[in-house]
Amino acid sequence: MRILVSGAGMAGLAAGINLGAIGHDITLVERAGHLRVNGSPIDIRGDAIEVTRKMGVLDQIQGRKVTMTEMTQFISADGTVLAELPGSEVSDSEDDTEIPREELARVLHAALAPGAPVVFGESIKHMHDDGDGVEVTFISGKQDRFDLVVGADGMHSLTRRLTFGPEQDYLKHLGFYVALTDLPAAAGTERKNPFLNWPGHMIGIARYNDTALGVMNFRSAWIDYDYHDLDAQKQILLDAFAGHDEWRVPEILDAVRKDPELYFDSVSQIHMPSWHHGRVVLAGDAAHCASGLSGRGASLAITGAWLLAEALRGNPGDLEAAFHEYETRQRPYVARA
Ligand SMILES: Cc1cc2nc3c(=O)[nH]c(=O)nc-3n(C[C@H](O)[C@H](O)[C@H](O)COP(=O)(O)OP(=O)(O)OC[C@H]3O[C@@H](n4cnc5c(N)ncnc54)[C@H](O)[C@@H]3O)c2cc1C
Repeated sequence: MRILVSGAGMAGLAAGINLGAIGHDITLVERAGHLRVNGSPIDIRGDAIEVTRKMGVLDQIQGRKVTMTEMTQFISADGTVLAELPGSEVSDSEDDTEIPREELARVLHAALAPGAPVVFGESIKHMHDDGDGVEVTFISGKQDRFDLVVGADGMHSLTRRLTFGPEQDYLKHLGFYVALTDLPAAAGTERKNPFLNWPGHMIGIARYNDTALGVMNFRSAWIDYDYHDLDAQKQILLDAFAGHDEWRVPEILDAVRKDPELYFDSVSQIHMPSWHHGRVVLAGDAAHCASGLSGRGASLAITGAWLLAEALRGNPGDLEAAFHEYETRQRPYVARA
């Protein structure tokens, strides 16, 4: 089949690898102009570890393992350590592997078949499923026809909106926001990751390898803003932490102002009764975001992309049966996460 995958995050890259490996002709488009390699280290857990082994990338993933979360400390405003976080409290399977998000993205990107490069700076504009195929118009103006569209374009999925309706029909806001900013001045040999809390807020530094990130969380009811407006996101964040000049808060906020790749999002989940409609199917956060709190977003994305490819391989010519199998096998992982 000719398959369009929208989004080159963990779900989209894994879908591109697995669907390409069973002989499909893959077009993978990513809205950003480059592979999005920011974000904090993420975990590969449970059955996703076995899936990465079958995909042939487990050794590369384990070779890039970090131990960032175990180094967390909770501090007071003057920097005194109040408590440390036992690693055993955050792991939920024996072989948990924490890997920098950028490393995982690069490992998966490199594993794509040579003939299926990511088309960066491209996105679906319109699409029409006529039953026999999906006609797609891209923002570049190009038009093409596909047998299947896989929406792997994240929690704020455009594919979902175009096919299933408004985001708010499926999104459950968990009541707070998260942001990450590059903090190069804090990188170095120090391995501890201090976090300062005050009611409704947490701000800290996360270090791994030669990288340091400023990490911020704050409680808030849902905020309406343009997901593509970086200045608006920065302002929301600066307002949330305004009036605090204790510890290294001013330094982290200054990094926010300067960061061209700030990551900012609501901590939310996506709940959908079904992940497919006609010749469109969703994968990863687009289908079932469990939120970063689950520690399983990447694992779900990787497992789901594998199960989708398995289901398509096992049900040739019968998309309905394949989607039914995919959803039946993936749902228990999602429910647990
Ligand atoms: C830059 C970034 C940083 C992140 N950092 C963290 C973090 O620190 N902690 C955490 O818990 N989770 C983080 N996440 C989310 C985490 O990566 C996912 O929960 C998990 O890996 C599931 O991956 P996914 O591929 O389903 O979604 P995502 O990782 O969100 O990937 C979706 C991809 O689709 C692309 N995309 C979006 N819209 C379109 C479109 N219209 N057309 C084409 N492509 C599109 C996005 O640019 C992105 O590359 C981050 C996501 C991103 C994109």
